[in-house]
Amino acid sequence: MSPTDDTEPRFIIEATGIRKVFSELGVSALDGVDLRVAPGEFVALRGSSGSGKSTLLNILGCIDRPSTGTYLLGGRDVSTLTPTDAAWVRLHYLGFVFQSFHLIAADTALENVALPLFYAGVPRKDRERRALEMLARVGLADRAHHRPNQLSGGQRQRVAIARACVGTPKVMLADEPTGALDSRSSEEVMELLLDLRRERSLTIILVTHEHDIAAYAERQIFMRDGRIEKEAMHAAS
Ligand code: ADP
Ligand code: MG
Repeated sequence: MSPTDDTEPRFIIEATGIRKVFSELGVSALDGVDLRVAPGEFVALRGSSGSGKSTLLNILGCIDRPSTGTYLLGGRDVSTLTPTDAAWVRLHYLGFVFQSFHLIAADTALENVALPLFYAGVPRKDRERRALEMLARVGLADRAHHRPNQLSGGQRQRVAIARACVGTPKVMLADEPTGALDSRSSEEVMELLLDLRRERSLTIILVTHEHDIAAYAERQIFMRDGRIEKEAMHAAS
């Protein structure tokens, strides 16, 4: 699978009959999830704590594998990838954003953003140039040499978004990205995601508890006890 494939499948994500059992405790976290997402869609994944949102997102992000079921990403079956192949897909196809940012504390903003390019084997000069361009895009060019603890929560999340996008992914997966932010920073982060989606034709799947945040997406999916309970569509904001 190459990020430059020019034949777009009808669905960028096509997950069928996804079940996930955490074997040690016998917990069934997902109990038969079917999900199809078209390229460029913005989907909010909602539901109470423990309903399976993060488990589903991790499977969609090739961080975890389903116990049973099939998962086609960009038309290719990725449900049974080896760890090495899964790492390649994550690097070239997917961008991740988390509630607690997951930045490397000892590294500068620039180094954090450049890290995926290092793993992708991009030469140092190109890494720095691209990371700086990406930081400028999220409005943080003047914070390139700051470390995470020298940045506000909203700024940290913008660094994390820059890192998620620097490899030009097709799909962005965000697990409660505004969960640790005040309402003003949350709004900035959501506006940034909407802009990036438009500019880059990104597909976004975003987990949130919050009604206001979910309202940025035109499609909302509600989970309950490891299943999709219902869906709602509405005009995008
Ligand atoms: P949500 O993100 O909606 O809060 P999760 O996907 O994190 O829910 O969890 C769904 C269910 O799976 C919960 O019952 C949770 O305790 C369980 N679970 C999640 N991860 C693990 C794990 N690594 N081992 C065992 N159980 C887990
Ligand atoms: Mg969760």
